[in-house]
Amino acid sequence: MVNYYAYIRSKEWYERTAPVRKRNEGLCEVCNMRYGEDVHHRTYERLGAELPEDLLHVCRTCHAMIHRKGQGVIWKSRLPFLRELIDEQAEPEEYFE
Ligand SMILES: [Zn+2]
Ligand SMILES: [Zn+2]
Repeated sequence: MVNYYAYIRSKEWYERTAPVRKRNEGLCEVCNMRYGEDVHHRTYERLGAELPEDLLHVCRTCHAMIHRKGQGVIWKSRLPFLRELIDEQAEPEEYFE
């Protein structure tokens, strides 16, 4: 079992997410408007050995929206994608040690 909080602060995580953070020229992969700041897990299935498609580089605003904790501005055309992300949202608490 991976300790989630320790893992997302690790060098391993930083290196694994580097290509993800560069993928959209540094822009948030949800809104395409702001720079990404966080890496969101679309699934925790492979926690500790994620595939690039398990992860999304997102801005704080979109990240909060995915986790239903905030509001923000997004292009209407991106809404279906945001809804999809909200629907597949899993709670990380299941993976704590
Ligand atoms: Zn965004
Ligand atoms: Zn997230």
